Amino acid sequence: MKLIRFGEPGEETPGVLTQDETRLDVSAFVQDYDEAFFADDGLVGLKQWLKENTASAPRVAQAVRLGSPIARPSKIVCIGLNFRDHARESKMEIPEEPVIFFKATTSLVGPNDDLVMPKNARKVDWEVELAVVMGKKCSYIERDEALEYVAGYALHNDYSERVFQLERAGQWVKGKSADTFAPLGPFLSTCDEIPDTGNLGMWLKVNGVFRQRSSTSEMIFDVPSLVSYVSQFMTLLPGDVISTGTPAGVGLGMKPPQYLEEGDVVELGIDHLGESRQSVVAWQPASAEEVGSRPGR
Ligand code: ZN
Repeated sequence: MKLIRFGEPGEETPGVLTQDETRLDVSAFVQDYDEAFFADDGLVGLKQWLKENTASAPRVAQAVRLGSPIARPSKIVCIGLNFRDHARESKMEIPEEPVIFFKATTSLVGPNDDLVMPKNARKVDWEVELAVVMGKKCSYIERDEALEYVAGYALHNDYSERVFQLERAGQWVKGKSADTFAPLGPFLSTCDEIPDTGNLGMWLKVNGVFRQRSSTSEMIFDVPSLVSYVSQFMTLLPGDVISTGTPAGVGLGMKPPQYLEEGDVVELGIDHLGESRQSVVAWQPASAEEVGSRPGR
């Protein structure tokens, strides 16, 4: 199944994207794709419900905005330097064990929403990534059982402000957490749709020019290893996101480095996970207020 959420920011409705790209409203079955939905075996129930209700479920127009395919999770865990080529271009050593950091969950937005440059931003950068969405609560799980706890996968752009991340004191989280810095989707693909997470092509373009072109086969630590690894340090809850790192081709690695400017358009995609597109817009006090006043989901 491919799960979507559609509607205005903060008021999204759950839906499903069918094989022929029809968008179905499934709000008669579930209120939202949140922690409770995944914890209560919602994916199994939804699949069953669709067997009987696909024909009668309301259709959703293609023009309706897509939100993040999941409600705001308890955490977004990110993996740093997980591709050999990206570690090299960042002039950082290949890590002996995964580097992990957080993104604020308030950075989550829809796949085609504008990227709002943070106040005082100077070095805003792109990172195409495979995001793992957890389906069951877990801690201290082994690599060979890790995928049993995964609900599915989604396309993610792990936006970064490199001054905040690398040139200001302390931890990377400052450069990763601004509003709109985590466009997720267009949809969440359940695990059965992605038989091998170790061989997915991934790409990103800025203003129509390829900047990143790689594959998840370049990962240093694979998806099951990462899920197991993160669970050694924290309890993962249903709906939590683990973003698995980006390949080479970020702005920071270019010579000279090149960052996003107002008016730029970023497009990205991963095999079987669709494509997304963000237009870069300037920060304005009014837009910040809007984001801040959204209801809590
Ligand atoms: Zn990243």
